[in-house]
Amino acid sequence: MRQTSPLPYPLSLLLAGLIAVACTTVPDTGRQQFNVLNPGEEARLGFTEFEKMKQSKAVSRNPAYNAAVQRVGSRLSQVMPVPNAQWEFVVFEDPTPNAFALPGGKVGVHTGLFQITQDDAGLAAVIGHEVAHVVARHSGERMTQGLASAATAAIASEVLRRNTDMGTAGQAATTAAIGGAAFLHVQRFSRQQELEADQLGALYMARAGYDPRQAIELWKRFAAWRQQNGGSQMPAFLSTHPLDDVRIAELERFMPRALTEFRG
Ligand SMILES: [Zn+2]
Repeated sequence: MRQTSPLPYPLSLLLAGLIAVACTTVPDTGRQQFNVLNPGEEARLGFTEFEKMKQSKAVSRNPAYNAAVQRVGSRLSQVMPVPNAQWEFVVFEDPTPNAFALPGGKVGVHTGLFQITQDDAGLAAVIGHEVAHVVARHSGERMTQGLASAATAAIASEVLRRNTDMGTAGQAATTAAIGGAAFLHVQRFSRQQELEADQLGALYMARAGYDPRQAIELWKRFAAWRQQNGGSQMPAFLSTHPLDDVRIAELERFMPRALTEFRG
């Protein structure tokens, strides 16, 4: 986009304020990121959304699955730095091998996941990975990137058409995103975010006393499952993750650091 005049004053101020307020650091990886929402707001949205999911999705009463999720969840929750956490681990009746975590420490595991996790360490690898997306605030970061694009588009639009009310586009996007809790259902994390979640997940496993090398075995089992169930059967969870061999290679590269925190 070619800009022929300086930014209009009110919107450039708005954008500067947005970015200054929202710059934070991801724990353990030290990566700098931008986020619009604060952790308290994110947690409140997570609580509300999880209640809705428990109303609308069938909750599993399978004793073995529930015991495993509570066992692994209680160990991991002591080492995962989720702000404002009110931990809750629920098994949902759903044959797709999937799991998710919402801000505020709300975790859902599908019954279909257990065919792949196989044991507590495998389950810890998936829960650690999903909660890592929350700790590193990846959904909010995705939303913030979207808003930055919207704001940029609004600036460009104003530069071209001076009679537009500048703040409107960005504010409408913010209101819609926050009001609809849309950011909790990010369809696609970036490859960088996925690899960061793998690394954090391995650290959480190690700190909770699970051998982090089991995460590598878990992703290999996922890769095998993917090959057997490819094509249209693919759940979004898997299709949005990076190529299996890339993530396994990256996790192997990171393993020495994770193992320094594993006391078996
Ligand atoms: Zn992920």
